[in-house]
Amino acid sequence: MEITRTQSNYSHIPSPAKINLFLAVTGKRHDGYHTLCTLMCCISLYDKISLNFNVEKISVSCSHENVPEDETNLACRAATIFFKKLGKQEGVGISIEKNIPVGGGLGGGSSNAASVLLSLNQRYGMPFSEKELMAMGLSLGADVPFFIVGKPSIATGIGEKLEKYDHLEPQHILLINPRINISTAEVYKNLNLRLTKCEKKIKCTLFNKILFNAEEHLCNDLETVTVSMHPFINKAKKSLIDLGARGSLMSGSGPTVFGLFSDSDKAEKAHSFLSHNSNDQIFIADIII
Ligand code: ATP
Repeated sequence: MEITRTQSNYSHIPSPAKINLFLAVTGKRHDGYHTLCTLMCCISLYDKISLNFNVEKISVSCSHENVPEDETNLACRAATIFFKKLGKQEGVGISIEKNIPVGGGLGGGSSNAASVLLSLNQRYGMPFSEKELMAMGLSLGADVPFFIVGKPSIATGIGEKLEKYDHLEPQHILLINPRINISTAEVYKNLNLRLTKCEKKIKCTLFNKILFNAEEHLCNDLETVTVSMHPFINKAKKSLIDLGARGSLMSGSGPTVFGLFSDSDKAEKAHSFLSHNSNDQIFIADIII
């Protein structure tokens, strides 16, 4: 991920969203965390983060009203952990321009945290390895280590075991977000592990041996929960298929739904149609390979 420095005391960092192309819930640990097998990739929908190093304390501001501007903000927590591990009491002013829907299943908060860790590591002369940054990230959230890597990956465990996935083809993505916020914790609370079905499509141990095929493999076990609460999900998936998507799926714990398009013309036309004919937020992006 490229970090641009306009002046020595300021950095501007793009912080990408992710989608889950496959998400099988494989079990539940004794500590209550669910285990997964998920294929994730970053997409070209970005929050913009600016860092100001000309300050003595850590602070955060965000353009979105539902994002906290205190020490609970994930970007702020990332800076706090970084300086603690570094053994220095430093300051940084973090400003976030939100474009990624909040609570949308697109990992915006986790991405912000990873972007701050990567940028601080660069600023302070790379004191930590990728592995160390991933460990810091995991203490903030299960998806943060993935954003440290930033490449298509299969995540297992609670999201902390990552293996790069090299068989993804370039695709255009159309995203539909109904402007509602879904709590990930609530979705997992309502999940019935007996109703999960994605592992039947791909066994996690075999994942790296197959070419991901949108028509065949798109699957998300968390849809069983959200679809029953939000009929929007199935409607949005169907409209993407009707507009020419090769496949459609809900990302993460939702509610954002995406469609995969091989053909950029079809994706552009579908984007234009949905932007004019629905009240939902519509985004067009590409998979980052
Ligand atoms: P997840 O599945 O990891 O919960 P998500 O994409 O569904 O991800 P996020 O946009 O990351 O959801 O936001 C989840 C919650 O985290 C929100 O309630 C939000 O207030 C809080 N949060 C804390 N810091 C941030 C941040 N920097 N950006 C977005 N949300 C943040």
